[in-house]
Amino acid sequence: VDQEGVYDRAVAAIRSARARGFLVNINCTLYDHSDIEAMAQFFTFICQELKVESITLSPGFAYQDAPTQNQFLSRQNSRMTFRRLFALNRGWRFSHSALFLDFLAGNQSYQCTPWGNPTRNVFGWQRPCYLLNHGHAATFRELMTTTDWSAYGIGHHGACDNCMMHCGFEPTAVNDTVTHPWKAMQAALLGPRTKGAMAPEPPR
Ligand code: SF4
Repeated sequence: VDQEGVYDRAVAAIRSARARGFLVNINCTLYDHSDIEAMAQFFTFICQELKVESITLSPGFAYQDAPTQNQFLSRQNSRMTFRRLFALNRGWRFSHSALFLDFLAGNQSYQCTPWGNPTRNVFGWQRPCYLLNHGHAATFRELMTTTDWSAYGIGHHGACDNCMMHCGFEPTAVNDTVTHPWKAMQAALLGPRTKGAMAPEPPR
């Protein structure tokens, strides 16, 4: 995607898809150097002018093979970055549960649910999630029954320690929504809290 003119072509494609009645969701990643005000303006443009249905949001995952490592957010930086962004709330539409957004803003002590959004690709069922590639299983049953899920999540694997990605933490938020619907309703009505003490990290 890092090529001249990609943004303009993507915007033109989105306009064309929306004009034909397609539902469009965009995937946005925040990095350490992200300009929050520019991001807010971009979200407003996406939602109000392009009329995209929703935005999927996550902090950039620290891929170990990425050529530049200093662009990735630590967990604490991620939470502060999302608080600054959500404080500018301009009616954006996100494809997330209210509690996942609240988690991004540092208000929920969630552990990863690595089996919550399984990845299927041409090689098979990828372990344990789409971010880490620790081999593939031939079937869904094999993935579920032979993966050591306890080896993943914050405090269980070095690659997981700064992860706040939707693939692992949205399922946790959904479970919490079902378990605590009043808390979820409050988060949905009030939006992510952007001030006050943050939640502790989950037990390791
Ligand atoms: S914490 Fe992130 S990288 Fe680790 S298993 Fe969960 S989703 Fe995958």
